[in-house]
Amino acid sequence: MSLQIAQAAVNDANIHFDRLYSYCVPPRLAGRLWPGSMVLVPFGRGNKPRMAVVLDVQEVEDAPDNLKTLLDAAPEEARLTPDLMELVRFLKERTFCTWFEAVKAVIPYGAQYRPAVENGRPVMQSRLTRSTERLYTLTGELPAAPKPGPRQLAAVQALRQGPLTARQLDEVGISKSTLDSLCKKGVLTACEQDKEIDLFAAIPFDPRPITLSPEQQAVFWELLPKLEDAQPHAALLHGVTGSGKTMVFLKLIERTLELGRKALVLVPEISLTPQMIRRLKSTFGSRLAVQHSALNNTERLLQWRRIQQGNADIVVGTRSAVFAPLQNIGLIIMDEEQEHTYQSESAPRYDAHDIAKKRAAMENSLLLFASATPLTETYHAAQCGRLQLVRLQHRYGGKPLPQVDFVDMRAELAAGNPREVSGRLAQELQKNLDHGEQSILLLNRRGYRTVAMCTACGHVLKCPHCSVPLVYHKPQQALMCHHCGHTVQPAPTLCPDCGGKLAYSGFGTQRVEEELSRLLPAARILRMDQDSTTKKNAHETMLAQFARHDYDILLGTQMVAKGLDFEKVSLVGVLGIDSLLFGQGFRAYESVFSLVTQVIGRGGRADIPGRALIQTTVPDHPVLQLAAAQDYEAFYREEITFRKFGLYPPFCAFCVVGFVGDKEQEVLTAAVRFGQLLGETAAKTPQMPLRILGPAPMNIVMLNSKYRYKLTLKCRNDAQFRAVMRQTLDAYDKEKLPAKASVILDFNSDGDI
Ligand code: ADP
Ligand code: ZN
Repeated sequence: MSLQIAQAAVNDANIHFDRLYSYCVPPRLAGRLWPGSMVLVPFGRGNKPRMAVVLDVQEVEDAPDNLKTLLDAAPEEARLTPDLMELVRFLKERTFCTWFEAVKAVIPYGAQYRPAVENGRPVMQSRLTRSTERLYTLTGELPAAPKPGPRQLAAVQALRQGPLTARQLDEVGISKSTLDSLCKKGVLTACEQDKEIDLFAAIPFDPRPITLSPEQQAVFWELLPKLEDAQPHAALLHGVTGSGKTMVFLKLIERTLELGRKALVLVPEISLTPQMIRRLKSTFGSRLAVQHSALNNTERLLQWRRIQQGNADIVVGTRSAVFAPLQNIGLIIMDEEQEHTYQSESAPRYDAHDIAKKRAAMENSLLLFASATPLTETYHAAQCGRLQLVRLQHRYGGKPLPQVDFVDMRAELAAGNPREVSGRLAQELQKNLDHGEQSILLLNRRGYRTVAMCTACGHVLKCPHCSVPLVYHKPQQALMCHHCGHTVQPAPTLCPDCGGKLAYSGFGTQRVEEELSRLLPAARILRMDQDSTTKKNAHETMLAQFARHDYDILLGTQMVAKGLDFEKVSLVGVLGIDSLLFGQGFRAYESVFSLVTQVIGRGGRADIPGRALIQTTVPDHPVLQLAAAQDYEAFYREEITFRKFGLYPPFCAFCVVGFVGDKEQEVLTAAVRFGQLLGETAAKTPQMPLRILGPAPMNIVMLNSKYRYKLTLKCRNDAQFRAVMRQTLDAYDKEKLPAKASVILDFNSDGDI
């Protein structure tokens, strides 16, 4: 009799050790396993149950001796479809993650299983107990006798409009006992259904015909053939802020649905999603599903199931939505494609751009990147003809771009203003208040004071677990680490080293908020940063309040810079931008240019013309000058020259190999050794372009009590390079280094990981 053997990859492997293990398939599971099945296997010497994913199933005549047997399998519906398995393979190949890390990225937490014990047997258990609810349907008529009671009549009346859930009926005062007795009489039938959480019930379906401006229409016509021919295509929509890129999206989505296909819309930040959801839901109704990290596990899973079951035509979400199990995708949109949140910062360290390209190729879809400030790489690809380039060069309705001015903060200081808000900015804010107009202020640092330094010995208070300064937070009266959350409460006044007096300096959003309320006592100020938006839906609530003009000034970190569209905003202020200009990493200029251009673009979008003020000590800095002129083309020309000279992407792939461990010396030794191994392996393929830089400490050398070093590689990320890297990882795994550091590979990093 033949037997099945499954090859499986287990959870909790690491990148230099992630092989497949063979298991016998027990008779009760025979024929029920496929590549993509989630299973439970005995692992290691103690045979501890571990989660695994099946990659292959073979029929054999005889199983080798002492082959272990699988313990359990998840139901077939939890299986990864062949499409999703292809994405898993792609992630594994491109990002050097483990099989199981790729699986976890592709299916949401809630859809996953965990090991458990039932009746003494190891089994797999869904991480979520399915929440169901009772649904009642009217299937008969109330008999005239015995005379029905008023509640029974009310129930029947309510159900004439269509089935209702127990909860909905309870809300109108109809109890379970009434419903039970009606079921017994055969008037109603009840069934259990998956609890449907309508996340957007409050948004009305209000479709209005979309009328494009002539410029928008031209872009639409240019893209249309690429949508209609059902071949894979990629394009970049480069449109200035306020040009109405969203309207072009809506029109393309409309056409996609007419063609009987589906649309995937990716947006960068949680704060953008509510606006996008509102526009999509009011235009296209409720066949819309959402995938983003602000959903809780149940919501996320239910949305995921709707997509999987084919009940959504449009999916909108943040980075991970690129894996949505949507089928027959005609259109993939990646809005604000320059945002770094499209790159995952934990394994698998993928870039959603790459996954979107892969999916567009698999599904024959049109992939549309959109931005006012595209990534240098993306724009370069468009220049080289690898992406179709379409442009919106004017704001919708002929609105001018905001008028931008600089405030020289050196002069401000010399004139005796020690505050972070310049006299000029305060005046302009006052003007806006007087005219009933709104303002947005960007300051990309949260907290109150950002540095605590001893006036006697110069010691800067740092986190004991991370090599970064602690930030003073006024509401808690505490020093906090923005990386690991370490808290010192109350904040000290004396130096722990020498007992000297501590001076607090630097400014964050809390401090500026306080200053503004002193300068402009009548202004209603809304602070929006990570600290003020911890509650669920806080973003949405705050943005709605600002839209209603409950506040005059919106002050916040980068979450106020992108995508927002408020008609009464006529003034934008940029504070504390200089430290970002001098930041490390080859993307520093690009990020500043993009941030400043984007935030300036929030102003003057409707009838009131916009103006902006940039506070800086380097008003002549070319990047700030170009951002003020909102001249992307000129910026791109500068930037691409710098990238070419310095050999940075797109002229090479930039790969950071990180080494992380408990002892600094050992982490460094590991990095040195890995560099040697890589050099030796690469020497066997001498024609392969590769430069190895380092080892060097990472910018933040200690994080969460772990030491971190890196090698920086400039290479061509092709199959040949990846094969060399894989051989090096294997060789590194065999090394008998004491306290071997773990290795992390990142192809999207700007230097640190
Ligand atoms: P972008 O994303 O390019 O910065 P938006 O899509 O937010 O710009 O559009 C800017 C503003 O112009 C929005 O208020 C939008 O409603 C309006 N708008 C753009 N195009 C149209 C159009 N075709 N019809 C009506 N309003 C439009
Ligand atoms: Zn810390």
